[in-house]
Amino acid sequence: MASTGGGGEVARILGEIEALKASRNRIDNQISALEGQLRELTLQNGSVPPPSVISGAVVDSGFGHGLSPEMIYRYSRQLLLPSFGVQAQENLLKSSVLVVGAGGLGSPALLYLAACGVGRLGIVDHDVVELNNMHRQVIHTEAFIGQPKVKSAAAACRSINSTIKVVEHQEALRTSNALEILSQYDLVVDATDNAPSRYMISDCCVVLGKVPLVSGAALGLEGQLTVYNYNGGPCYRCLFPTPPPTTACQRCADSGVLGVVPGVIGCLQALEAIKIAGAVGEPLSRRMLLFDALSARIRIVNIRGRSLQCEVCGENAAFTKQHFRDFDYEKFTQSPLSAAPLKLNLLPADSRINIKEFNEKAIKGEAHILIDVRPAHHFKIVNLPNSLNIPLSTLEARLPEISSALKEEGSESAASLYVICRRGNDSQRAVQFLHKMGFTSAKDIIGGLEAWGRDIDPNFPTY
Ligand SMILES: [Zn+2]
Repeated sequence: MASTGGGGEVARILGEIEALKASRNRIDNQISALEGQLRELTLQNGSVPPPSVISGAVVDSGFGHGLSPEMIYRYSRQLLLPSFGVQAQENLLKSSVLVVGAGGLGSPALLYLAACGVGRLGIVDHDVVELNNMHRQVIHTEAFIGQPKVKSAAAACRSINSTIKVVEHQEALRTSNALEILSQYDLVVDATDNAPSRYMISDCCVVLGKVPLVSGAALGLEGQLTVYNYNGGPCYRCLFPTPPPTTACQRCADSGVLGVVPGVIGCLQALEAIKIAGAVGEPLSRRMLLFDALSARIRIVNIRGRSLQCEVCGENAAFTKQHFRDFDYEKFTQSPLSAAPLKLNLLPADSRINIKEFNEKAIKGEAHILIDVRPAHHFKIVNLPNSLNIPLSTLEARLPEISSALKEEGSESAASLYVICRRGNDSQRAVQFLHKMGFTSAKDIIGGLEAWGRDIDPNFPTY
């Protein structure tokens, strides 16, 4: 092959492939939207559309069922199950499932749903793949770092099962697009990690005519799972009419999570989705599964049924599609839909110092004490030299230590007192408290250790 000219040809072919893929996605999305409309129309008319129209995957094989010889071979190990068999497989191939979130829960859920032969599999996500996702979001590979999670997840699903239809929704789910997206599917898997999304997805499923919803959550070393809107069962609001206090809504980015925990819950979400779509077994409705990884305990508790007073699905509920579009889920839950970390602003400007000023003072050798108020296990991951770890929760009890450290350091003139944390929120809370306790010169370092890593030392680890 000639060494010159080949590069241009390669670029042209790559460009053409990209363009064709883009038009394929556009056409897939148009087909999905039309199928959603068709489904709504046939539901209204009470008739059932022929399966071949809906999935495009089931054919007349001449064996009295719609499975081709290739399908029989591909799915043979589950066809052999007496309680599953040809009927459940056909049901799966005709079904459409939407997974909201291609993260820790969505990763295993999507892989198994693709593998088992769900006819049309939708993925919603607006995020990109990052290195610190890898330990739990096992659908993504390092090659996709920096690329949209939807693209990465869809590629993985297609490489496992090229015979199903995978639909990419590369956008954040909002009240403005949720009705249109969710209406294209028979079943929804909530694999998100925040309170406003949970309410929004559940409400949307209810207003679309009680679309079954498989809901999972995992944080730290614990997980839970249940099915909403199934066969007259409760919706999320029936159980939680008012949102939990914002302090109770932790996220993986703040509290941590062991990768396999969302893996377990995500697999169970796939299992519940397969049972509902395949019409086999007993879905986990009106019950909740609680998983405790450290003690290896799984408990199933009964939960209340549908609430007649529920504001969305109750007897006299008047929650319409228009109400849904107008509802402010972030305000309702006092918590943001996006995972951007909180940025508090509790202190006057003269009680704060930016990271560069602090660094200059430290280099000049100005007498000071630096308190790091992060929890001890954070401090062990990484810390600044000569910082004193006094976690925020122990600050009150350890004030005498701060007094004596200041005396030691200050000898003649008073030493400065600086407080740092991971992102600059807890350090402000600590400084507020220190001011109250008489340490009036205490200052918080704006942006915390993240700012140090960004502005002073690019080799300083972030976590
Ligand atoms: Zn309800």
